[in-house]
Amino acid sequence: MNLKDMTNNPYLLLTPGPLSTTETVKLAMMKDWCTWDDDYNNIVQDVRKRLVSLATKSVEKYSAVLMQGSGTFSVESVIGTVLPKDGKLLVVANGVYGHRISKISKTLGINTVVLASGEVEAIDLNRLTAALENDPEITHVAIVHCETTTGMLNPIDKVGQIVKRYNRIFIVDAMSSFGGVELDIDDLQIDYIISSANKCIEGVPGFGFAIVKTEEFDKCQQNARSVSLDLYDQWKTMEEQNGKWRFTSPTHVVRAFAQALKELEVEGGIKNRAARYKNNQKILSKGMKKLGLEPILNNELQSPIITSFYYPDSEYFKFSTFYLKLKEKGFVIYPGKVSDLDTFRIGNIGDVHQQDIEALLQAIEESRYWLNPVLEK
Ligand SMILES: *Cc1c(COP(=O)(O)O)cnc(C)c1O
Repeated sequence: MNLKDMTNNPYLLLTPGPLSTTETVKLAMMKDWCTWDDDYNNIVQDVRKRLVSLATKSVEKYSAVLMQGSGTFSVESVIGTVLPKDGKLLVVANGVYGHRISKISKTLGINTVVLASGEVEAIDLNRLTAALENDPEITHVAIVHCETTTGMLNPIDKVGQIVKRYNRIFIVDAMSSFGGVELDIDDLQIDYIISSANKCIEGVPGFGFAIVKTEEFDKCQQNARSVSLDLYDQWKTMEEQNGKWRFTSPTHVVRAFAQALKELEVEGGIKNRAARYKNNQKILSKGMKKLGLEPILNNELQSPIITSFYYPDSEYFKFSTFYLKLKEKGFVIYPGKVSDLDTFRIGNIGDVHQQDIEALLQAIEESRYWLNPVLEK
């Protein structure tokens, strides 16, 4: 098999991660690295520094920690490390990933309250204010930025203002938005933000990361409820031993991620990447409406990351058939996850450009078998 066959994707992933990466990101994994040699650890240090610069102008206030595993492992390591034994977490949840934070917190034995709201409406900020006003025991508030369940972008600016008005610690799961939506965690008053390698930075799966406000994080050395997910210990080791991970690190994945960060810079940074995703989403949404496929969210709630669509109004529609037809044409889409609606999802992130979305729309137009079920038989 030649290299070209090995790196050529049989289809484009229009999924929220793992996603389609560039050939050069994949090729960066072709070397083996030693985990304690400087050649490798300098890459880790460079990655950490770059992540902080992507997150804020106030680089001196924050530090990045990398953690093995998928994104959820990083969420669990933050929750389990930053909540003190007598802490209480309020989770604002309006989708699968918000509820996953509360499941993690409860499983760790942390006192947890959930402010649940519907999956397709904007969250109710008055209820958040009331919850903080009425419960002085709450020490931390967590929310998902882009709720990948629906594609909704939660208003973390307004949430942060309320959280800080009541002087609580603010945790944001920005897994699917970090690198794809412009933000500054210092302006947003975020104490901990979490993301992973295989989302908007466009790397491959294998580790996640948290960017922590050092002044707060420095108080967390006694909290960990797990050894392997002790984020504080991981941070101290990286800080004191020039980027060393405590246990085997995903060397190839880190190397690919370093390449992905360079490619993000070449693209013109988050500003330009966010514009590309936004354009993808706009063209997709407009084109789908023309084909009779309606997005489930109002425009003002819709993120540029991923879009949920209602099933077409036809008794002949089956997601599995639609999925296979598109896969044959070179596109892999995503099933829906909203609790009580029939939906499917299309992601705009990864190495995906306007011409890909246009080709997808063409493929969907040709795949609307439900309009002509007789011919299909
Ligand atoms: C992808 C994602 C996660 C993490 O999922 P993993 O499967 O563990 O990588 C967490 N939160 C959000 C919002 C996500 O989109």
